[in-house]
Amino acid sequence: MTFTLAIVGRPNVGKSTLFNRLVGKRLALVDDQPGVTRDLREGEARLGDLRFTVVDTAGLEEATDESLPGRMRKLTERAVEMADVCLFMIDARAGVLGTDEVFADILRRKAKHVILAANKGEGRAADAGMLEAYALGLGEPIRMSAEHGEGLNDLLSFLMPLA
Ligand code: GDP
Ligand code: MG
Repeated sequence: MTFTLAIVGRPNVGKSTLFNRLVGKRLALVDDQPGVTRDLREGEARLGDLRFTVVDTAGLEEATDESLPGRMRKLTERAVEMADVCLFMIDARAGVLGTDEVFADILRRKAKHVILAANKGEGRAADAGMLEAYALGLGEPIRMSAEHGEGLNDLLSFLMPLA
């Protein structure tokens, strides 16, 4: 039994950093499979003893807040449909922005399971953003640092029951 995890959230919160950490070099194995689009990167993730498919909404790098109603929304909805569970990532240093609320709404309506990750969580600069993350009403946020590999054990314990 395996599952698909989609990493969603606005640009620059650290989605691809987490994706790369979960997938490592194994992306090369799946990159040229049919059905893998340029905008949604798919890889084979390893975390602890878990193996699962992870999807990164990679096509959002160029998106702006203005394009949110269109391309970003469509891409996110597609990722959510593919996924058994969504990891919704915010930037704990920036706090919860209006754009994050749009993603939260999509996930509340469409996602089967949501895990909230407040990334860039290393250091005191993230403390206020953690409190805002709680207020999103999407459950207890994982304080994460994708760049430093922190919070991955917490992610693992959220994912274990789904495996
Ligand atoms: P994406 O647009 O959501 O895919 O975000 P990226 O993964 O491309 O990351 C955007 C920027 O945030 C990059 O400069 C990363 O190095 C940085 N970043 C990612 N994770 C962390 C983190 O945990 N802490 C800090 N301080 N920076 C991070
Ligand atoms: Mg990215």
